[in-house]
Amino acid sequence: MNEFIFRVFANGRRGVGYLLAFTCLAATAQIGWRPTHYVLQLEPLFASETIVGSLEMDFSLQQRDVSSITLDSGDLHISSVKLGAKELSFAKQGAALHITLPAGLHINRVQRLAIRYTGKPGNGLRFDNESAQVSTAFSTSQWMPCLDDPSVRTPLDLTLLLPSDLVSVANGAPDVPQVQPDGKTLHVWNMALAMPSYLYGFAVGKFVVMEQPVGNTTLKYYGPSPMFDTSMLRQVFADSADMLTFFTRRSGVDFPMPAYSQVLLMGPAAQEMAGFSVMGARYGTRVLADPQAIWLAAHEMAHQWWGNGVTNRSWRHFWLNEGIATFMTAAYMEHRFGKEMYQRQIDAARVKFHAVRDAGQDKSLVFPNWDSPTAADRSLVYDKGALVLHELRSLLGEETFWVGLKTYTQRHWGQSVQTADFVRAMEDASHRDLSVFFERWVYAKQLVR
Ligand SMILES: [Zn+2]
Repeated sequence: MNEFIFRVFANGRRGVGYLLAFTCLAATAQIGWRPTHYVLQLEPLFASETIVGSLEMDFSLQQRDVSSITLDSGDLHISSVKLGAKELSFAKQGAALHITLPAGLHINRVQRLAIRYTGKPGNGLRFDNESAQVSTAFSTSQWMPCLDDPSVRTPLDLTLLLPSDLVSVANGAPDVPQVQPDGKTLHVWNMALAMPSYLYGFAVGKFVVMEQPVGNTTLKYYGPSPMFDTSMLRQVFADSADMLTFFTRRSGVDFPMPAYSQVLLMGPAAQEMAGFSVMGARYGTRVLADPQAIWLAAHEMAHQWWGNGVTNRSWRHFWLNEGIATFMTAAYMEHRFGKEMYQRQIDAARVKFHAVRDAGQDKSLVFPNWDSPTAADRSLVYDKGALVLHELRSLLGEETFWVGLKTYTQRHWGQSVQTADFVRAMEDASHRDLSVFFERWVYAKQLVR
């Protein structure tokens, strides 16, 4: 995601639910169950800005003594919960949905829960009636009950029921839209790849679409019509193929899905999701005026590897997502525009970090909690996080540093990680003890000088 958008969300009332959703559930090892597959049908209703949802969640118990399970469910109104034909009792406590399980369920066997719900999400979903757009924004549990924990990776099949003239983008691969007798259209998206729920999402609107094949991947560009046409999209996303090639080479991992989509939305947007990213239409107009203003698209695409492919295990290690993505954006800008552009990016991160440090607000990059991050905390994960990689690059030298980043990415692909995993990969690649470096830059609570 983008730092500015993150700040907007976290500083306003809207951010509260988002941040609490990050922290309210324990790791699956402790809760004794895990979701194995989500199948969601969702109808966004533009006139009322509400949603009607029907979720089937496959799950399995890993312990015998689990008598209830708890899902994050934002402000959703839950109508019913069933296990097969059996109605289950449930209770909503804030954003938590507690579901009582019948006794005697087998462990390690897939069970299926069916949850019906409605909602009028105040955040997590943005309706823009003027442009006929609706899109998800950050907090998945505001539009689908789920285990909103970055260490839990689950496949998702999503069916959207939409007015017939709209185009959708969501996670994974689409089927051909099916028009229903009532004129509404079913848009089915299947993501077999297990991903953390915070990366689930969709964007719907009246879009002009362009496609560009790059190796085994198809790049897709979406812009609001008639504000954008295909030749404008071609200009806005002129560097996307080069970005994809650059991040693939540096990570040593091919892009894991058949397509990567970039969607321009009306209003503010800057977020990576599994297999696609959303950005504001203003990003598009900015790039049309200045072809070098491509920082945001590079940042969100970098997340497809660092964040999505390798994910922070908990939000304590959020710097692994944002610090690495911010650094890799600077590295791409260096590749595309030269050393001076890289230095400008690094200098900007340093200025922001020093402002935080000089205000006495520097702290360990492994935050003890993310319940109430300050603006300074958020700057640290992006700016100090990027500087950690820059300093490491200077310390280890070009070749060793990039081998280390590749080692980290390949070794943990498809996993959720913590800071120690990153340290170990860099130490293995360099054959050096980096404990002093990481103590100083990442773990130390005292100021970096
Ligand atoms: Zn980001």
